[in-house]
Amino acid sequence: MTLALEPVQTSVPTTLNTRVPLVTGETVEYANLDHAASAPCLGAVRAAVDEFLPWYASVHRGAGFASQVSTKVYERTRDVVRRFVDARPADTVIFTRNTTDALNLLARSVPRHTSVVLFDTEHHAALLPWRGANVRRIETPRNRLAAVSAVDSALADCPPGPRLVVLTGASNVTGELLPVAEIAAVAREHGARIALDAAQLAPHRAISLRQLDVDYVVLSGHKLYAPFGAGALIGRSDWLRAAPPYLAGGGATKLVTAHDVVWNAGPERHEAGSPNTVGVYALGVACEQLAGNWDAVVAHEHELLAQLRRGLADIPGLSELRLFDDDGDRVGTISFTVEGREPGWVAAVLSAEYGIGVRDGAFCAHIATFRLTSGTQALRVSLGLGTTAEHIDRFLLALRQIVADGA
Ligand code: PLP
Repeated sequence: MTLALEPVQTSVPTTLNTRVPLVTGETVEYANLDHAASAPCLGAVRAAVDEFLPWYASVHRGAGFASQVSTKVYERTRDVVRRFVDARPADTVIFTRNTTDALNLLARSVPRHTSVVLFDTEHHAALLPWRGANVRRIETPRNRLAAVSAVDSALADCPPGPRLVVLTGASNVTGELLPVAEIAAVAREHGARIALDAAQLAPHRAISLRQLDVDYVVLSGHKLYAPFGAGALIGRSDWLRAAPPYLAGGGATKLVTAHDVVWNAGPERHEAGSPNTVGVYALGVACEQLAGNWDAVVAHEHELLAQLRRGLADIPGLSELRLFDDDGDRVGTISFTVEGREPGWVAAVLSAEYGIGVRDGAFCAHIATFRLTSGTQALRVSLGLGTTAEHIDRFLLALRQIVADGA
């Protein structure tokens, strides 16, 4: 067996393509324009997982060959993920199920009476886990400069004690990038820490935890072109080391006696139970694939996003959702409403008649979506490495027809 223990060298990663049936009985290549929900597995990830599947075993639990291989792969992936976000050497990498799990772990680990400052347009995974903390939800201002000032004012209002700013890197509703470095600088001035929800940013842009000067980053494998089930929390270890284990059970303990438990101090403290070795391996391979190809990834996205935006601008009755009035960088995610058309119906027609997958709804960011639409749901188109110019052309043509029909 030759596990991909070294970075896999490819030029542009490819995703898997599948054909789907239409209502007419024909089949077409599926145009997946829903990468922001989950991104299909990269070919290299799939190949690596295939090789690994016969060998997965519990980690840190035995001298058997499979267990040793799994332990090596698992521990090595911590370094891969650490490098992927350019973390500080002392930062810990804890494997979780996904971003939601990672944020809940962080929420359980912050010291008592921590003040948490966040925008109200965050994804529910970032918005909701802070029970018991002193939470300050800021109504997201309409431009980025004002957003930075709003965090400044909120932090200035916090009582003495630990403070944490929680911020998404890219909005899962609008694709807009948030001014992370600027907000991190403000957080520093107030002695606050900052946690970056990179679920949407990590698949699209290189992240440097050091350059951004953020304390924690969380991400999900399934949005990074790996299968479901593995994510990570990366960042400063002190709060995590001091917190009670996220789950109690095997793997999190150093020693259990009749009367006492000595918990591990390292990342295993929060990883009780048999971990998702395959998912973690896949996450690591996906990170390596992206890290070796950022120029291609970003160029591919810019080109297709420009094509999509040009086409959408020509279709009457569309209103794009935007958090900010000022122009800033964005990832390949756009949400909009279609005048006189219910988003769920449009998405169903796109799927059944054109073989195109988009998302409809409020995207687990109800406050953001309902504010930006004045109370309705919306459609979301999100691009990724598997997206082609043909997918966008087909989508634009389909949407034009849907808008024209019955106009
Ligand atoms: N944060 C953001 C910005 C997201 O877009 C998502 C998922 O869509 C999450 C967090 C939660 O990710 P997961 O469902 O993988 O936990």
